[in-house]
Amino acid sequence: MNRQAEIKNNLQIVQDRISVACSNAGRDINEITLVAVTKTFDIKDLEILYSLGIRQFGENRDQEASKKFKELPNDINWHFQGQIQSNKLKSICNWARYIHSVDQLKHAQIISDLSSDSPKSIFIQVSLDNPPESRGGVDPDKLEALAVEVSKLKGVSIEGLMAVAPIDNPGTQAFVNLQRIHNNFKSKFPQARHLSAGMSGDYEMAILHGATHLRIGSSILGNRDHL
Ligand SMILES: *Cc1c(COP(=O)(O)O)cnc(C)c1O
Repeated sequence: MNRQAEIKNNLQIVQDRISVACSNAGRDINEITLVAVTKTFDIKDLEILYSLGIRQFGENRDQEASKKFKELPNDINWHFQGQIQSNKLKSICNWARYIHSVDQLKHAQIISDLSSDSPKSIFIQVSLDNPPESRGGVDPDKLEALAVEVSKLKGVSIEGLMAVAPIDNPGTQAFVNLQRIHNNFKSKFPQARHLSAGMSGDYEMAILHGATHLRIGSSILGNRDHL
């Protein structure tokens, strides 16, 4: 199979599985945004995805994403979902429409200062790890205090929460916890409707537990073993 056919086939499988998971969960598929995680993949693969109708791309390295952003059409929504370094934020804010991985007030302040014209959409990353915060994300016990401060900033808008399932416990429990955390969070920050969770290995489970933004890479583009 050529690359175009391979990606088209993979994407169709993922989209079908999303659709089945939505029916099983009794959810409307229109609530779901599929973010194709294109980090490390060649721009040609992104062009193929674009030709197949994909307009949401997820990246985690500023330099790589800036280059792709410049070369691809401007009706793409770019999502930054990597670990944030303060000195990269100025550049990230140039290309990323959504920043999924904010877990420090300091970073939210910088984003806000850079985005005074129109607020930048962010997700606050919450840690599901034990001990918390070992791989990024804020401790769930400190989430509300962080969000209170972030919500005072004029240049950011909290779209929702983001999380990555723990490595040692990829089962349902983490998603049950996450959904509970998100429901509680929405009762205090009603604008934070979205939940960015679910990757290639667990997106169906994420859909069952309220995810709205699925970040899927390898199921669509293959393993990142070309590194
Ligand atoms: C790489 C990455 C993904 C995609 O992972 P796959 O397993 O390839 O689907 C999703 N979210 C984050 C934060 C990532 O870094």
